[in-house]
Amino acid sequence: MALFGRLIVASMPLAPKFIVKRVAMRYVAGPEMSDAISTMRELSAEGACFTVDVLGEEISSMDEANYFHEEYSRLLDAIEEHGLNANISIKPTAFGLLVNRDSAYSNMESITRKAQKLGSFVRLDMEDSRVTQETIDVMLAMHSKGLTNIGVVLQGRLRRTESDIDSICSALGDKSDFRICKGIYLEPDDIAHTKYSEIVGATNSAVTSMLDRGAYTAIASHDLPVIEHALAELRNRGLTDSRSTGLEKKGPGYEFQFLLGVRGDVRRSLASKGHLTRVYVPYGTRWYEYGIRRLRENPEVASHVVKALLMPWTNRR
Ligand code: FAD
Repeated sequence: MALFGRLIVASMPLAPKFIVKRVAMRYVAGPEMSDAISTMRELSAEGACFTVDVLGEEISSMDEANYFHEEYSRLLDAIEEHGLNANISIKPTAFGLLVNRDSAYSNMESITRKAQKLGSFVRLDMEDSRVTQETIDVMLAMHSKGLTNIGVVLQGRLRRTESDIDSICSALGDKSDFRICKGIYLEPDDIAHTKYSEIVGATNSAVTSMLDRGAYTAIASHDLPVIEHALAELRNRGLTDSRSTGLEKKGPGYEFQFLLGVRGDVRRSLASKGHLTRVYVPYGTRWYEYGIRRLRENPEVASHVVKALLMPWTNRR
């Protein structure tokens, strides 16, 4: 499967852009903010809520970072104006973390402050291991300024994750709010698990540790062994109906998160059983670069994409 994925990735730049676009548009709302708004309106009927991502990461000038700052600010206004149950996901490198740390902090603070005023939440997406600690530090710095409406993503594949859960929960107590996923970036085996079974095992342990520590836990996986493990842990704790809890609830609580276009049937089934489900909705003009980069980072994604296209019944949007 990995070889198959690599072959697809290698041939992707040769494919006509309109074919790549057809593939990408299953996973991306569209180039404009209005596309994200219409996608969310449609999926709201399925009981989902949302986190919205403006496509793009690791920029090379602060002018580009300012674009993201302005776009996210407009996005928060649009979410409010349309009365959508949605928050935002941001990438610290798109805000300039690796270009000008002080300006990046100040832009992220201004967005988080605006979100706080609107009663909204900011999720810091986790990028590759160069910026793991930096990203956690941004989140802790915001909390120390009273901006508790921000949480980080941890990646099950990284060996450091259990110790990160411990130190973040010790620092933030019941204000700890995590998204836990396997991690899309393939990292070397001195810092990361590299076998499927180990990655699943470590992601499951992280879910358990987050719930044990009373943190708000957003489980972001389409993989049934991870979802089933989380459901068993939630049942053991009597946490069964997260849809009735408020959006901004902190402390013990949970939700399930899915990428737009992936395993909608599993998401709808969880929602019908009372679980809060959130869809990650990316939009933006940089869908082509985003798609190609994601495929290069992890060629296995290409296998999922092709399977979803050839056997669409395995993956309803
Ligand atoms: P997999 O074993 O990869 O997938 C299980 C099954 O789901 C597959 O067999 C397939 O049927 C289906 N599937 C999975 N992906 C696709 C796809 N692209 N197309 C079609 N079918 C698919 N990673 C980070 O490193 N940082 C983040 O901040 C981050 N945020 C995320 C936010 C959300 C809401 C989600 C759901 C994932 C996020 N990820 C992030 C990605 C995550 O780390 C994994 O790389 C990704 O979810 C695939 O792992 P999986 O657990 O879904 O299991």
